[in-house]
Amino acid sequence: MNDLLTHNPIEGQTLFNHWCWGLENSKIYSVRSLRVVLDENMLDEATRATIWAIQVPIKVNVFVWRLRPNRLPTRVNLEKRGMVLQDYKCVCCNVEEETVQHLLVDCGMAKELLAVTGFWAASLNFPLIINSTEDLFSQQPHPPRSKEKEASEVIARALLWTLWRFRNGLLFEGKVKTTQQLLMEVKEVAYNWIKSRSKWYRNCLWSDWFDNPAM
Ligand SMILES: [Zn+2]
Repeated sequence: MNDLLTHNPIEGQTLFNHWCWGLENSKIYSVRSLRVVLDENMLDEATRATIWAIQVPIKVNVFVWRLRPNRLPTRVNLEKRGMVLQDYKCVCCNVEEETVQHLLVDCGMAKELLAVTGFWAASLNFPLIINSTEDLFSQQPHPPRSKEKEASEVIARALLWTLWRFRNGLLFEGKVKTTQQLLMEVKEVAYNWIKSRSKWYRNCLWSDWFDNPAM
């Protein structure tokens, strides 16, 4: 964010003692205008169209936005930024170095959670095996603006968000969880997001979602 602020004209301008937003003609701040600048500066053409999902909270979209150009603060990424840590190993397995690829794709916990999530969401053609986090964003065989596409996008983000929060809980609070507990979190998180923000799932019952997100 600091990089963007220094390279782009999105600083506020004082005018009659008010802050103005330079990216909108109205001078009023909007998430959309900020999103456009972030996307244009950080993402390639193919990535831009699929990054923001309106069904998930902004903080999760920002998380995905940081994930895709490999800017999540994993231990290895912190080392690249010059931070000296005592340990660069993955918090979950304590074997491999904690890169984004390892933590969210290759680590045993990530693989297990992806497998059980894929099994639960099989009727959405959710992938059971992925080679990179990009596969979760690109392997969506559904028509645009369809119920299935929305559910797949929400579940992909809930899966990655749950893994990241699990890693932070383990690192900072020593919270250990099983794969089944994490799967339950994925279901709950995704349900709360999609029920409150998707017209398709507005009246969806938890019990139906729990059994099959394609309903
Ligand atoms: Zn690991």
